[in-house]
Amino acid sequence: LFIADTLSRNPIPHLPDSDTELTKETDLFCYHVVATIQISDPNLILIREEQAKDRICQMLNKYSIEGWPDKSQLQPSLSKFYSVKDEISQNEGFLLRGSRIIIPQGVQRFILSRIHEGHLGVTKCQQRARRNVWWPGMYRAIEETVKNCPQCIQNSSNKQQPLIPSEFPKRPWQKLGIDLFKLDGVWFLVATDYYSRYFELAQLSGLKSNEVIVKLKSFFCRHGIPEEIRSDCGTQFQAILGSEFDEFSKSYGFTHKTSSPHFSQSNGAAEAAVKIAKILLKKSPGDPYLALLSYRNTPLTNGFTPSELLMNRRLRDRLPSTPKFFNEKLDFTGLREKEEEYRQKYKNNYDNRHKAQLLDPFRVGDNVWITDLKRHGKIVEICKEPRSYVIESEKRRVRRNRIHLKLAPYYKPHSPPNHHSSQSNRQEVVDGQPDVNPRQSSSLVQPRNSLGRTIRRPARFLQDVGTLEGGDV
Ligand SMILES: [Zn+2]
Repeated sequence: LFIADTLSRNPIPHLPDSDTELTKETDLFCYHVVATIQISDPNLILIREEQAKDRICQMLNKYSIEGWPDKSQLQPSLSKFYSVKDEISQNEGFLLRGSRIIIPQGVQRFILSRIHEGHLGVTKCQQRARRNVWWPGMYRAIEETVKNCPQCIQNSSNKQQPLIPSEFPKRPWQKLGIDLFKLDGVWFLVATDYYSRYFELAQLSGLKSNEVIVKLKSFFCRHGIPEEIRSDCGTQFQAILGSEFDEFSKSYGFTHKTSSPHFSQSNGAAEAAVKIAKILLKKSPGDPYLALLSYRNTPLTNGFTPSELLMNRRLRDRLPSTPKFFNEKLDFTGLREKEEEYRQKYKNNYDNRHKAQLLDPFRVGDNVWITDLKRHGKIVEICKEPRSYVIESEKRRVRRNRIHLKLAPYYKPHSPPNHHSSQSNRQEVVDGQPDVNPRQSSSLVQPRNSLGRTIRRPARFLQDVGTLEGGDV
């Protein structure tokens, strides 16, 4: 170790006699190090030639022999080496820092490609490089190389993002999540209340928009019309929730929000209801109604049952109960606090479990790789809900959550994106984020004309977003 350290110092002229032996040993070691470098290696020959041609290397050579001037007298290109000046030396025609070869600017790109062959990540590449080569700014250059490598970008995926905890609704049946599912060849519609987790279930004869609407109307006449309905962007919904559903939402006066395609986690409440409904139906094929009643009469983590939360009363089932049980006045004190605490806990668990990492937001004009489509595109719009973007892809316009997008700085679109756009009745271009808190929504980035006026978007756009998604992957 001592010798290796000594090797890395630049030669000090006129050593005292007592050090002569040490100098000899050091020289011998230096010779050994250089001798183990196979000079027949064309890469080494190339670097030696480049070092000889490179003006900075020439100066470094000079200083390592003659001694270094004061830092203030150095040009910026050379002052970068000052902090390691004692480690710079010249051996057998190679300029080294310690035992690492100093790479002149002319071949840095070439060496970066060699460092990154195998396409390992930033840290691994840096660890690999630091054993053999060096130049000022090498670590940063390696990072840039990896971040710009098409193969690396196109063969990786993003880490999960931290969950945005949903806001507990202000009252029952204010916000619903709806979903469709198929069991033993039969389609079902589920509509679940975000407040009470009470869900309504209806069997469908097929996937017709009209039938879904009628079933929803039957739910609404029992519990009232919600203010907001969330659904995912699945293939079935593409066909069903078209213009007829738009008309329905307008006429009944509720907003319909969809999650980003392939990001159904934002419609988690409905997904959870689907899971429960499937189990109930599978386990009680004879009479699923009693099973459904049991679910509605079973306390949630907050201590209340879905029916208590929705209807403020207890439902009679086949379990014996006293009249007093039904007459008890329900006290919901502390419910909101419990719910918020539960949501925070859930978020923390989720974030820890997935080692969630906040991804940098994109700007309009950023080039990206769409991980699920395996296609490039350019960000043309930032949606009003967090983490959701509209991308002009190589084939068509798509909407995606941030989780499905990776920055692709190397990508150059062949032609400028075709800016057709929209003004929506439906809040279609909305996030795909888990249970979005409306207060977190940023304003929709509207394209502006040359006079700075917001361009009104033709309604067609939404249909584009609608049609292109579901069957795309
Ligand atoms: Zn790579």
